[in-house]
Amino acid sequence: MIGPGSVLVVATRNRGKTKEFREAFASIGIEVRDLNETEAVPSIEETGETFHENALIKAKTAGEALGFPVLADDSGLCVDALGGAPGVYSARYAGEGASDRDNNAKLLRELSAIGAEGHRDSAGASETFGPARFVSSLVLYDPKSGACFSAEGKVEGLILKEPRGSDGFGYDPLFWLPEFGKSMAELTVEEKNAVSHRGRALRELRRQIPSN
Ligand code: IMP
Repeated sequence: MIGPGSVLVVATRNRGKTKEFREAFASIGIEVRDLNETEAVPSIEETGETFHENALIKAKTAGEALGFPVLADDSGLCVDALGGAPGVYSARYAGEGASDRDNNAKLLRELSAIGAEGHRDSAGASETFGPARFVSSLVLYDPKSGACFSAEGKVEGLILKEPRGSDGFGYDPLFWLPEFGKSMAELTVEEKNAVSHRGRALRELRRQIPSN
């Protein structure tokens, strides 16, 4: 379905996600493009209640519109002290069209408001608001054969009280990885792919896809 020399479209307009997919697929000779490079796909409403449902909606809508295989990622941050929020609403936590900065500010406001307590981890991070995880659900859909592959990946961390680092996107500056002694925004794209929810989901997905 996809292999060295082929082009793979990812059903996203999020350039941060595209950068990570590009890095992950470059080593196996697959060129990644995203929906910023085509007008053939209408804007997709994410009406699902789970990451998997939303990934399926994106992969099928984009795949049917384009007529060739599409990879979709639906992902987000689940914070224990907020009962798993923002979850599937991560991109629009501070409202429709919210920026990463708006979403991060709202996350810190909400956690401060409920007085969430974390701890100073052994690697010496600044204070945290306690545990959270990033989740990525991937769906690869081929509209010609109807074949559909899916995989999920997670990474555990702690929510920082203050942002650290300037790489990555979304909530990366607030996501502390105790085993690295760094925030997700302090990792290179290669390092992030090696440990992230998206990198893990991708390796699981690749195990499922027959090579050709
Ligand atoms: P989606 O495009 O609807 O899947 O929304 C994903 C949202 O979840 C992003 O806009 C970010 O707010 C958040 N998110 C997902 N993956 C990451 C990540 O790797 N780092 C930081 N934030 C992420």
